[in-house]
Amino acid sequence: MSLDPFFQDSHIFHRSFSHKPLHVVAADGLTLTLDDGRKILDVTGGPAVACLGHNQPEVAKAVLDQLSKVGYLFSGGGYSESATEELASLLLKDTPGGLSKAIFLNSGSEATDATIKLVVQYWNTRGQPQRRNFIARKQSYHGNTLGGLSMSGHQSRRAMYADFMTDRVSFVDPCYAYRCKLDNETDEMYVQRLKQQLDDEFQALSPDTVAAFFAETIAGSTLACVPAEKGYFQAVREVCDKYGALLVLDEVMCGMGRSGTMHAWQQEGIRGPDIQTIGKSLGGGFIPLSAVLVHQQIFDSIANGSGALAGGHTFQAHPVSCAAALQVQKIIRRDNLLENVRRMGVVLENLLKTEIAPLPLVGNVRGRGLFWAVEFMLDKSTRTPFPLGDDVSTRIKDAALEEGVNVLSNMGFAGMHKIDTAAITPPFTVTEGELVEAVQRLKRAIVRVS
Ligand code: PLP
Repeated sequence: MSLDPFFQDSHIFHRSFSHKPLHVVAADGLTLTLDDGRKILDVTGGPAVACLGHNQPEVAKAVLDQLSKVGYLFSGGGYSESATEELASLLLKDTPGGLSKAIFLNSGSEATDATIKLVVQYWNTRGQPQRRNFIARKQSYHGNTLGGLSMSGHQSRRAMYADFMTDRVSFVDPCYAYRCKLDNETDEMYVQRLKQQLDDEFQALSPDTVAAFFAETIAGSTLACVPAEKGYFQAVREVCDKYGALLVLDEVMCGMGRSGTMHAWQQEGIRGPDIQTIGKSLGGGFIPLSAVLVHQQIFDSIANGSGALAGGHTFQAHPVSCAAALQVQKIIRRDNLLENVRRMGVVLENLLKTEIAPLPLVGNVRGRGLFWAVEFMLDKSTRTPFPLGDDVSTRIKDAALEEGVNVLSNMGFAGMHKIDTAAITPPFTVTEGELVEAVQRLKRAIVRVS
């Protein structure tokens, strides 16, 4: 491959050398302006991050105000301040399910790492230190740190570091009916099969050694916007309860309103997780922020046990990140944006099902709220995926950019099957007109690639 001279000249170690990065000179609302004057309709907001779009003046003001008030504090050194406290209260005051404490970090990966450590500390405190095994799901993604990758069933991202991964995580099948439900199975039978598989995994590990089960409530990065079949999370909760293990739900991508409810699990008919991670839409990407939300019972055990939370980071609970996220969360509530997520979610679903699903390359359209993806197939009638060498989702992403819209393309693997997808994850403020325009542009891109 001949390297574009740009990558030699730039002092940034860019991630991919196949495409010169698009140079953005301005970002406002849903519009990215490039240095050559082109405008891109941004209907992904990065990987489902910019939930208020770009350039929100009220958030900018909150950041400046915070900088001139308390710009930095070392929370691990015994300090706190009001934006951080207020954000935690806003997130947890009326949250159903008993989640009552927040640990603020900077990325989803750090939230996964902190959760692993919290779970281990919890079981030590409870006098069950043998509970050190985790069960997670194949084709899942929980982060790119070594802890995050250990918990992720994302084979290609793990491969190079296999010997750095703990063998304390085992993987069961995700709930992914389009590719994995058998032809002769009803939805109920499929859920029962997955429930049995999870139960068998507990038995294989010996149930009293299992610390927690980890899952994304709506599978995001790897499978692309796959909600579980009805009853799946009830089944998972039952198995965890049966064996006394913790349920950890990763809502870094699908959470904080993206699904149409504040937490995606609120649509799953369960009392909630024991621990939940959140990130992207928590702060809308203005300044990095993630959090681990913790059930009161876990807090009580640690407070009454070792009496301190193990671990910590220099920039944990950063006041400016918390002030930005606090303003984002106030705007979401003040402007009733979850209502817009639900209304525009229906619009997006209808547009994708009528305009995109009938196209020859499109095998499946799935999602919830403003979290939708299209899965591409070489032959949709037989569900034959594109061959390994054909990165069709990147070809479609490139064609979409030429049409002036961005999509979140992804190539992953489900068992032996290749998965090619493009996701649309617009801001909670998106309008019907913007969705119509985005879907028309995507349609032209797919037709061009066909
Ligand atoms: N968990 C999920 C479900 C994610 O989608 C991601 C990132 O895409 C992460 C964790 C890791 O988050 P971050 O990239 O902020 O470290």
